Amino acid sequence: MKVPEGCAICESTWGNYWEEVEGQRMFFCCEICAVQFKNMIAEVKSRTGWQSIGEIKIRGDYRGREVTALRDDGSAYKFLIRFGSKGEVQKFSPMKDRQEFVNADLGTRKDNSARTGTKN
Ligand SMILES: [Zn+2]
Repeated sequence: MKVPEGCAICESTWGNYWEEVEGQRMFFCCEICAVQFKNMIAEVKSRTGWQSIGEIKIRGDYRGREVTALRDDGSAYKFLIRFGSKGEVQKFSPMKDRQEFVNADLGTRKDNSARTGTKN
């Protein structure tokens, strides 16, 4: 899995906390960021049904992060996430836009998230 440089959550380059996530040794600035990251990955997997995630892109800060999860086939899943003080997922909002499941229109749509919006 490709993750942001530095700490996989906040991109800090200071700190020295390593943890294995998804079979990959990853750098985090601190234990809380590692907990956040693992909770986030678990949330994405359960919502998308993806077996693995190819890349994680993160923008924003502790007040809220905009994340794009990419699968190896190019499918993208975008969401907003905010963590609680113990690293738990406090808020998770999938972003419904055109980039979501970008390659999913080829007949292999695998969308386990509830699509409640109306079709345009
Ligand atoms: Zn961090």
